[in-house]
Amino acid sequence: MSIGEFAARCGLSAKMLRTYAAAGLLVPAAVDEISGYRYYSPTQVDRAETIGLLRRARISLADIALFLKDPSTERVMVWHRQLDKEIESRRHALDLVRNHLATRPRRTATHPVVETERHTTTMNSLTAAMATDKGLHRDTNQDAVLIDDLLYAVADGMGASGAIASRMSLEALRAGFAADPSPAGLAEACRQANQRIWDEASTVAEYEGMGSTLTAFAALPVDQGGPVVANIGDSRLYRLRDGLLEQLTEDHSVVGPLVRAGELTEDLARTHPQRHLLTRALGIGPDVTPDVVAVDCKPGDRLVVSTDGLYNDVAESDIADASAAPDPESAVARLIDLAGAAGGTDNIAVIVIDVR
Ligand code: MG
Repeated sequence: MSIGEFAARCGLSAKMLRTYAAAGLLVPAAVDEISGYRYYSPTQVDRAETIGLLRRARISLADIALFLKDPSTERVMVWHRQLDKEIESRRHALDLVRNHLATRPRRTATHPVVETERHTTTMNSLTAAMATDKGLHRDTNQDAVLIDDLLYAVADGMGASGAIASRMSLEALRAGFAADPSPAGLAEACRQANQRIWDEASTVAEYEGMGSTLTAFAALPVDQGGPVVANIGDSRLYRLRDGLLEQLTEDHSVVGPLVRAGELTEDLARTHPQRHLLTRALGIGPDVTPDVVAVDCKPGDRLVVSTDGLYNDVAESDIADASAAPDPESAVARLIDLAGAAGGTDNIAVIVIDVR
């Protein structure tokens, strides 16, 4: 049949057929040596349709040529899996960009810009402000901060790609918790965040050795399990009640247990040579067990979620004073200024939440 008829039979254009012929994929059955007209055999329709479909799947002509020599379902499944991976990888990159936009530093050391979010839950009405700052001595900000629906979280990245790890951790946490907003869902979201960082750190060379802390307060209504905090590492949740600041999370650090046992004061812990050694973090192993504990909070309380950039160089009494500022925005600004005034040696991320 003529090229026109054949093109119509297999749903391809004459131009495509000429391309496939030039690539040796589908050679016409006959060519008129005088007119140059090409003729195809009806037995070639099947092959032409297969080529057309593979091109729609964006398979290269070279790969199609190889495939046609030995067509197999296995090979199609390999392309399938490659496509899944590519989509996942592109989606992941877009997630990171979105998270990057949401958590990039919004302030300088002298002009704090504090973001404020207001949420009303059936439990309480919450008003929160958040900010993160590079500090004065670091080139990058590896801390990240997230407010999403009922979730208030900070993460402190570690390693050369720590900034990627902390953002990855918050993004995985957000997605995991959104899928199951409950205390168990929060724990599972932490494990998923760990898995994500661990997978990337162990397969992508430039991510090797990256990790992150994660402290996440979930303002769950009582009928969904009540307010709860998940913690891995040495970021913290504090509660300010009646002027008294209390740390509600336990630091997973070498010095943490020593402070809890009264063997080391909070002041001495801040200068201890092993103060930066963590005993638990996301990304250092295939599994992680987060601490997940109920949070006792009531209207009038103020909660502070922060990375160690806040408390490393600042006395707890000063944190308490600054946290007591009239509203969350000014509390966040004062806390960040406090860390800057104390030297700004580390990145800092802070969320202040008013429970009403
Ligand atoms: Mg830090």
